[in-house]
Amino acid sequence: MNDVFANLPVTVFEAMSQLARDNNAINLGQGFPDAPGPEDIRRAAADAVMNGYNQYPSMMGIPELRQAIATHYAHWHHLALDPMTEVMVTSGGTEALTSSILAVVEPGDEVVVFQPVYDSYLPIIRQAGGIPRLVRLEPPHWRLTEEALRKVFNRKTRAVLFNNPLNPAAVVYPREDLELLARFCQEFDTIAICDEVWEHVIYDGREHIPLLTIPGMRDRTIKVGSAGKIFGLTGWKIGFVCAAPPLLRVAAKVHQFLTFTTAPNLQVAVAYGLGKSDDYFLDMRKELARSRDRLTKGLTSLGFPVLPSQGTYFLTVDLSPLGLNETDEAFCRRIVTEHKVAAIPVSAFYEEDPVTTVVRFCFSKNDATIDAALERLAHAIHR
Ligand code: PMP
Repeated sequence: MNDVFANLPVTVFEAMSQLARDNNAINLGQGFPDAPGPEDIRRAAADAVMNGYNQYPSMMGIPELRQAIATHYAHWHHLALDPMTEVMVTSGGTEALTSSILAVVEPGDEVVVFQPVYDSYLPIIRQAGGIPRLVRLEPPHWRLTEEALRKVFNRKTRAVLFNNPLNPAAVVYPREDLELLARFCQEFDTIAICDEVWEHVIYDGREHIPLLTIPGMRDRTIKVGSAGKIFGLTGWKIGFVCAAPPLLRVAAKVHQFLTFTTAPNLQVAVAYGLGKSDDYFLDMRKELARSRDRLTKGLTSLGFPVLPSQGTYFLTVDLSPLGLNETDEAFCRRIVTEHKVAAIPVSAFYEEDPVTTVVRFCFSKNDATIDAALERLAHAIHR
């Protein structure tokens, strides 16, 4: 059997969701919204199923969606992408990442990866024969530093995987950090695979800056996106890869044999959704920020030290000032069994030297769910 995969544990999301089910708990662990998603986009998908084309679409994605992706990024980020040679549709951000990693990484290549790390990156890098070089990010700011990058980048650094906005830390990286990373990529001739699936889920007027738009990065960045996060339709699994033609061409060869194509009717609906007015996206952010504030306020009043959430569906709590004398994992196990609320221990996003004091809660839930969870957590930190 293949050791890379045979020895992998079940993901922490599955394990916590199972514990949530076993304990009849409110699941603030896995990140998915309670809301059914925008009705007009769902209707566009239903129409496309009933009246549209249901056979294999073009391998690269239907032309309307590739055009819509290019138009969307031109509008939001002044990014000029050629829809025919620089845009590909995949089956979710996960496949977009896998196609990108397998396209770039060869045996013996070093790949810089930041912890906390999204769980799919490391196994795929290893399957490609790559050697991960881990950078440990830390609360409360989780920022990149020159010193940390200097320790891991070298002549063998073929690629860097960077997630911005960062799940689970809920950070939207400022231009300064992107420019720092860009300098290292240029110095060591490194390709950046930038996981930007949370690009629209940002708060308080913050701006998402695609790494691809930083000077010097246009030809060395692969940008990954996901309609699942943009529209709160996480089960749809429509992802995008945007990159200069020499990079995209190879990623397309991988995609060809991973999934080949992606449901055409959902692609039609995503093309429609990406064309929605700015108000839709701004209102979505406002509504999610309201839920974030509700959970933040509630947890704070119960005595939880909440770290600010700049983006994603998540906020984090730093347990260290509470003197509980238990790890994030023990805390999560205790609250799911004793208080019937599931959360995710952030240490699960570290392969080595974990931060063990931070817990992630998902707030993309309706008010009643948030309030019920808060009520259940009332005595979680005062034993
Ligand atoms: N990257 C990150 C950082 C994510 O949070 C997620 C979804 N949880 C993905 C990739 C995967 O996206 P998709 O569901 O579109 O495959």
